[in-house]
Amino acid sequence: MNLRVTILGGGREVGRSAISVDVGGKKILLDYGVSFDERDRPVLPLHVRPIDLLAVMISHAHLDHIGAAPYLYITGAPKLITTRPTIDVARLLTLDFLRLNAPYVEYEMREFDRMSSNTVFIEYGKKVEVDGVSAEFFNAGHIIGSSQVYIETPSGERVLYTGDFNTTQTWTLKQADHAPVEVTTLIVESTYGARNHPPRGKMEERLVSIVEETVDRGGVVLIPAFSVGRSQEVITLLYARAPYLDIYVDGLSRDITEIYLTHKEFLRDPALFTRVVESVNFVVDSSMRKKIVKKPCVIVASAGMLKGGPSLYYLKRLHDNPRNSIILVSYQAVNSNGHRVLEGGQLPELNIGPVKARLEWIDLSSHTSRDDTIKYISQYKSSLRRIIIVHGDYEEASVLASGVREVLGEDVEIHIPATGEEIVVEE
Ligand SMILES: [Zn+2]
Ligand SMILES: [Zn+2]
Repeated sequence: MNLRVTILGGGREVGRSAISVDVGGKKILLDYGVSFDERDRPVLPLHVRPIDLLAVMISHAHLDHIGAAPYLYITGAPKLITTRPTIDVARLLTLDFLRLNAPYVEYEMREFDRMSSNTVFIEYGKKVEVDGVSAEFFNAGHIIGSSQVYIETPSGERVLYTGDFNTTQTWTLKQADHAPVEVTTLIVESTYGARNHPPRGKMEERLVSIVEETVDRGGVVLIPAFSVGRSQEVITLLYARAPYLDIYVDGLSRDITEIYLTHKEFLRDPALFTRVVESVNFVVDSSMRKKIVKKPCVIVASAGMLKGGPSLYYLKRLHDNPRNSIILVSYQAVNSNGHRVLEGGQLPELNIGPVKARLEWIDLSSHTSRDDTIKYISQYKSSLRRIIIVHGDYEEASVLASGVREVLGEDVEIHIPATGEEIVVEE
């Protein structure tokens, strides 16, 4: 058995996920994403020649997994395999990405559209065959259409790539599937390789009670949330637990919610989500924005880290009044506005003085935690020969590795490759 896996991005880092797996002279590319440097400029994964690719398989629509893929369509036209919602969500995220980064990106929507027209859509649990390589996607529970990708190479290797995954069921998505296959090589993410999340139910209760208290005292609740996944999760949770609330959705969150609705068969409870969308209000213009900040209500708006978008507008309007609440529910990268406001209670360079509103951070992660990742990996114990840990900084990945080692013993190889590293197995 021969296996050659090259980490083109996402090795000991979160961002620009890109992994190439050799299959009889050609390569399968698992994800091709971007990351951002400290000045917020896009950073690409390592290069791969489109002509060498048998196929590109994309786990989900986040830009750290698909944002670099259109580059492959400047000079090439490789076949791309993914789910339908992935392309639709990625299209909106790419429009936004190009609007903000056009001078630093060498492709345009034309390349994205070429990519779409070379895409073969796949459903969970249905096999596709690409030149002798069999592939199957399984639900990853992370965002709509997110998938774990399973491939069987001609040499007999059975590789499962988790992508970003969540083994906890949420209001919008079922938990990640246990893929019913005999995996020999598992490529697993490690965003939370060293940490566990607080119990989900408790976090949800806290969110609902802060929202209710705020609205009862006549205040406005601002929930800055990632446009894909977190926004839809928050509105569904609030509708299910407190259906009488007056909820508004603004920015990219609103557009993505519409896409969620068009692919509701990928959601845990399509009927519930339809009712949610019917009951919330979409903010359509600035006059509506000005009106809603004056009455008790809940506003869910992108961007989740307060990097821009309407959430910044609302922050400026609402931070000054102690009756209001601002609840951050997304991951806050160090140095993001969200992180800085939580640490220091103000953002002077944006003219946001001391925040007098109640300010909270609630963990509603869409990535699996350390203990759950270990539990998930051990399901493949009987066939597993090696684990490749990606999509996490070195510290997170090493703590995960030591936990896995305790459960699986010495028989399994564990790799934490850096970007650029190659794992070659000759048996
Ligand atoms: Zn993701
Ligand atoms: Zn990711």
